[in-house]
Amino acid sequence: KPVIIIVVGMAGSGKTTFLHRLVCHTQASNIRGYVMNLDPAVMSLPFGANIDIRDTVKYKEVMKQFNLGPNGGILTSLNLFATKFDEVISVIERRADQLDYVLVDTPGQIEIFTWSASGAIITEAFASTFPTVVTYVVDTPRSSSPVTFMSNMLYACSILYKTRLPLVLAFNKVDVAQHQFALEWMEDFEAFQAAISSDTTYTSTLTQSLSLSLDEFYKNLRSVGVSAISGAGMNEFFKAIEACAEEYMETYKADLDKRR
Ligand code: GDP
Ligand code: MG
Repeated sequence: KPVIIIVVGMAGSGKTTFLHRLVCHTQASNIRGYVMNLDPAVMSLPFGANIDIRDTVKYKEVMKQFNLGPNGGILTSLNLFATKFDEVISVIERRADQLDYVLVDTPGQIEIFTWSASGAIITEAFASTFPTVVTYVVDTPRSSSPVTFMSNMLYACSILYKTRLPLVLAFNKVDVAQHQFALEWMEDFEAFQAAISSDTTYTSTLTQSLSLSLDEFYKNLRSVGVSAISGAGMNEFFKAIEACAEEYMETYKADLDKRR
């Protein structure tokens, strides 16, 4: 069975560019990938998608028909697509033994996928049928301040608890800024505290106590540094995905079978 890789992250973190990189890497390494675009509003894609939400739902039409703004239009398009998602799953099931990975791109604005009913329906449809891993793309150069880093990690944490799926943190754009600082902050609580204490904004006491709770979260995930532009970190990324797929089998799948 193929492993589903759902790519999420803040707008501009580089999800679509990263997906393009994954497509190039799989093609060059004889890995069999299947590509899905779930962003109804993307103008042009750098990769060819096997399944594209834009073929089924016309986001501009949806905006006109339901009298919605851009965000409402994207959300409603995703809702409409989610109602037919069993068909998407069947398409993948029919090809299951010819595929290694299904790569899934999500809408630019993260909450449209991670905090919507349709996002949950789509994620669960995948996870109840295939080993599924969430990849949270982090804009590394933009996360270098301790407070920004922390809010990004809290968001990732909320996704882990909401989906209960194995999570890979992909620290993207390492061609611009290395992710070493992030690894240090995650491994060494005191290093992060030291960074925080040099930041004297009013949030820093809150940040200190929150960072304690994040310690447990960090133990539950895998982190890799990648560059969607240079292609750095691809082998490490796929190693992390494999480990997560095993974790899915051991924990999530067992959990799911129990609940049935
Ligand atoms: P999305 O909204 O998360 O899908 O982000 P995009 O893939 O559209 O990328 C947003 C911007 O970040 C674009 O200008 C990309 O060229 C840039 N970008 C993405 N990945 C990288 C990277 O690894 N390195 C650098 N330097 N820029 C990147
Ligand atoms: Mg995108």
